[in-house]
Amino acid sequence: MRTIPVPVLRAASLIWPEELPFNRNWRTDVTHPVYAACAATIDHLQPRAHGGSNSELSNLVTACWPCNLQKSEFTLHRLGWALAEITSSAWDGLIYAYPDLWEEGHPNATAGDVRYHLAWLAAFFPPGSTST
Ligand SMILES: [Zn+2]
Repeated sequence: MRTIPVPVLRAASLIWPEELPFNRNWRTDVTHPVYAACAATIDHLQPRAHGGSNSELSNLVTACWPCNLQKSEFTLHRLGWALAEITSSAWDGLIYAYPDLWEEGHPNATAGDVRYHLAWLAAFFPPGSTST
């Protein structure tokens, strides 16, 4: 499943708050279903409930929200699942569009949104990067 990082979705929601509503508490009655369907989440190969690390990179993978919920506290082995191969896909989760979405949406941002997005933009596009 192709996923989209939540900050990218939230920047789009700033531009189109009626069409792509987002609720800070992810209330499903007021948050667009694309968040639940496509948001990229961090999942743990060895579940946290079974002592899996939250900081060791080898224990962390990207999962869509539905797979993360289904996996729950189980191991991949227990579920009969296997990790998807990392491919050289050109899909970047729409990160390429994030600076433009933020540029367009920032007038609608709260102070908290500004802090959130500036931190994520710095993470995706560190100083000296040439991605923008
Ligand atoms: Zn998935």
